[in-house]
Amino acid sequence: MTFWGGRWRDSGGSSRIPVLNPATGSILAESVESSPEQIRAAVHAAAAARGVWNGSSPSERAELLNVIADALEERAEELALLVTDEVGTPIAESRRMQLPTAVHTFRSTAAAIEDLSFREMLGTSVIEHCPIGVVAAITPWNYPLYLAACKLAPAIAAGCPIVIKPSEIAPLAVTVLADLCHAAGVPEGSLGLVQGSGETVGKALVEAAGVDMISFTGSTRTGARIAAQAGRLVRPVALELGGKSAAAVLDEALLESAVRQTVAKCFQNAGQTCAALSRLLVPGHLKAPTEELAVAIAGEYAAGDPRDPQTTLGPLASKAQLRKVRRFVRRADEEGARVLCGGWDLPAGVGKGYFARATVISDVSPEMEVAREEIFGPVLSILAFEDESEALAIANGTEFGLSGAVWAADAGRAMRFARRMRAGSVSINGAPTNADAPFGGFGASGFGRERGRAGIEEYLATRAIHSVANG
Ligand code: NAD
Repeated sequence: MTFWGGRWRDSGGSSRIPVLNPATGSILAESVESSPEQIRAAVHAAAAARGVWNGSSPSERAELLNVIADALEERAEELALLVTDEVGTPIAESRRMQLPTAVHTFRSTAAAIEDLSFREMLGTSVIEHCPIGVVAAITPWNYPLYLAACKLAPAIAAGCPIVIKPSEIAPLAVTVLADLCHAAGVPEGSLGLVQGSGETVGKALVEAAGVDMISFTGSTRTGARIAAQAGRLVRPVALELGGKSAAAVLDEALLESAVRQTVAKCFQNAGQTCAALSRLLVPGHLKAPTEELAVAIAGEYAAGDPRDPQTTLGPLASKAQLRKVRRFVRRADEEGARVLCGGWDLPAGVGKGYFARATVISDVSPEMEVAREEIFGPVLSILAFEDESEALAIANGTEFGLSGAVWAADAGRAMRFARRMRAGSVSINGAPTNADAPFGGFGASGFGRERGRAGIEEYLATRAIHSVANG
């Protein structure tokens, strides 16, 4: 179905896309691709609604965001199960991560509106920060609700109509979110949802007449294509792309915590996390104890039915993703790295589904594919370094720059290292990520920032109005 103008409509497309449960391969639902006419109509309705928020105050929009957060919370269990079914995230993780991050995004955006000044004076000139216009938003499957919330909440906060295309692999929870936004009172026309594959519906949405800005989260490959399209159309674009993030352990003081937390950040959502810490950098003399710890911790991961609260390693979201991950592990083996545990078979006790094994690879050198490419599976690479400057060169040595971590007994040393990491977000000694802080990348991890005040500012354009004093 396609949503625009305040109601669901027949998608009108000829292509039907099955939504599979990755734990079993069975069909959960089928989505009908939005036809070109429906995509144009959704954008047209959004363009007609450009001024619909004009009469609303920032506080009213903040209140609406909190109502959406309440509605998400009320249906949290049902939505957690839905995400678990369509993505494969273990239910305990869906309850802990998938839902709360989406709820928090609406609440924290509501709070951030209060910090923003939409109008300020510069001498006798008025500087206005106005809604940029119609946002075309495209999201991936790994955290479907949260990543949709990262676009819907700031669009509402800024007063921009938005048309969203969720991933065809996991579109179900986002359609419920669209319903919740509508029921909460998002004005008619200001919210659209189209469905289908990227090559057809995503591309048509990016190019549709009436789109003022594109906000994309997904792979670097797709992001580059969208940026090229946006360039030809002279449309601003925000890109949240892939990563190959490093955790650097500078000394042995916190080794056990460092390895435990790095494995957890690497294997979260079966490794399908853009900010996954997939490279663990340790001094050469700590390589052996690090390997031992990492293998023991990886062995604690229990693959199985994602609806079982004891499961800690779910399947990958699709067969294509599983093939890709297995190919990476085989190539690492061929290139001379040592696969310490895991590998390319199904995990023990699992007979079907797109499960990858919890894998730790050592003797990885920076030029190997497994050290450079985003794998998006539960695969940790261990790389050894001689000194701090080599650690920094390795950490900054990929085309990406999304996130990072550093561990050292001396907090000042860790801070100096963190400030030289080319990454949009760095954690020191296991500090949790502040969910209100801006999030985004350097280099091939994209540009633009989401979350909080910075996220709203992405959707604002500046206008200066000059007048003479007392004029
Ligand atoms: P993907 O690029 O294959 O697809 C993402 C979205 O883009 C989907 O909705 C897809 O249908 C659409 N799409 C594909 N081709 C398109 C085209 N030509 N035109 C328009 N739309 C198109 O990514 P994925 O496999 O769904 O997601 C995994 C990727 O997302 C990883 O690289 C991951 O790092 C990245 N990601 C980044 C962040 C971040 O905040 N930086 C967050 C989550 C995921």
